[in-house]
Amino acid sequence: MTNVTAFGAVKEIGGNKLLLEDKGTKVFLDFGLCFSRMNSFFSPYLRPRSWEYIKDFIALGLLPDLEGLYRQDYESRMRESIEDPLYDGVILSHPHLDHAGFISYLRSDIPIFCSQGSKAILQTFEESSFGFHEYTRLKENFKLRPSKRDSSKLTKDKGSIIPREINIFKPDFKIDDINVHAFPVDHSVPGAHSFVIETSEGAIVYTGDIRFHGRRSNYSDFFVSKAAEYDPILLLTEGTRISESTTYGELDLQRDLFKLSSDVEGLILTNFPIRDTDRMRSFIEVAEAVDRTLVISLRQAYALKTLEENGVKDIPRINEVSIFIPKKGWGVLGNNNYPNDIQLQDYSTWEREFLDYTNSVRAEEIVANPRKYIFRCDFFELKHLFDIKPPEKSVYIRSVTEPIDEEMELDQRRVNEWLKYFNLYPYHQLHCSGHASSGDIKEMINRINPKQVMPIHTEEPLVFSSFHSNILNPELGEKYEIK
Ligand SMILES: [Zn+2]
Ligand SMILES: [Zn+2]
Repeated sequence: MTNVTAFGAVKEIGGNKLLLEDKGTKVFLDFGLCFSRMNSFFSPYLRPRSWEYIKDFIALGLLPDLEGLYRQDYESRMRESIEDPLYDGVILSHPHLDHAGFISYLRSDIPIFCSQGSKAILQTFEESSFGFHEYTRLKENFKLRPSKRDSSKLTKDKGSIIPREINIFKPDFKIDDINVHAFPVDHSVPGAHSFVIETSEGAIVYTGDIRFHGRRSNYSDFFVSKAAEYDPILLLTEGTRISESTTYGELDLQRDLFKLSSDVEGLILTNFPIRDTDRMRSFIEVAEAVDRTLVISLRQAYALKTLEENGVKDIPRINEVSIFIPKKGWGVLGNNNYPNDIQLQDYSTWEREFLDYTNSVRAEEIVANPRKYIFRCDFFELKHLFDIKPPEKSVYIRSVTEPIDEEMELDQRRVNEWLKYFNLYPYHQLHCSGHASSGDIKEMINRINPKQVMPIHTEEPLVFSSFHSNILNPELGEKYEIK
């Protein structure tokens, strides 16, 4: 018997946690957090209780209440923790947090099956982002040890670091008796895959997040033609843009970006998604064509370095860009009144090595030569504009999605104020989505021709009824037998 239960991504975008059960094997397809549901309870200033993350998330319906799934340091505070896990793995489609974000709360002995690219990106989250990010290793919480000064007393221990079982998947791999086939697909982050999963009842296809208008549309095409060959009994498909027909793609964007950039006399400033290396590629190509260099952030440089170290191919190399070294902490970088090691103390360990890179660039160099650069500046970096001093005839190109909720609108209003202050308003908007258009989803369904379609990762699952005669519209946490 084969069952599918959606514990997330039901009538919402993201939060994929799809449990697939086949003859006693239990596998999750993704284990993500749903930002809209999370933000409906929490904000940057109203954080979850650090000592009861899992219990509170279960109470609020953000995590499913399942035994033998969660990390034991937290589980043992809620109920007796089981010795062995009751789940056989998580197949991760890609490293966006709406698919991977809740892996941090899983037991370390539940294997994660993911691509090289996904692992590398999750590693960069762990090492260079704020918040609770424990995707490739788990730091045990709530441990005590005898004090070093007085061994009769106890003190809080840092806890051991336990590596998770990360399995980098090959194109074909097995979990128990289930054969899984992984296909790289076009999306907006390195490492994205779709899957064909051969269960005892027949093949189940899972798209993860997919598009057909990026730099890798041929990958998505190949996946669709292969998936069709398995004569699937079920297609689990995303439908983020199921009501949108535009197929404006990455190469259209690159063309328009070139047109816009070629006669700018001042500095070009932009914001594009931090981990979208295909968008970075568009900016690198255009920068080269208009005799400029793209300047990326330390965090992006760290991601490129980690991807390269993990053997991920077909991504920008770090020597194709310049790396912006902002002032931080005491702001004493380059101030000779402070010794070198004091200047270094303004930076985290992972940031320090980039200070010596020959392609690192400081604000003074950009101020001296604004015509030489395209400067990427995201929301958190707007404050550096005081040092960057965009001269007259500079432009700002917004290359991220339009605000979709109140919080994003509020942030955009803040961005606008900064842009007005620095005479960069109005801005230019150039973006293409990471998700397939309605027409492309319809064509995919037609080509794969599954027996049944389960729409997930969409706010409008009912739209799918016009695309296929057998739509299984899931309810949250409801188990469906698939045959
Ligand atoms: Zn997603
Ligand atoms: Zn995604």
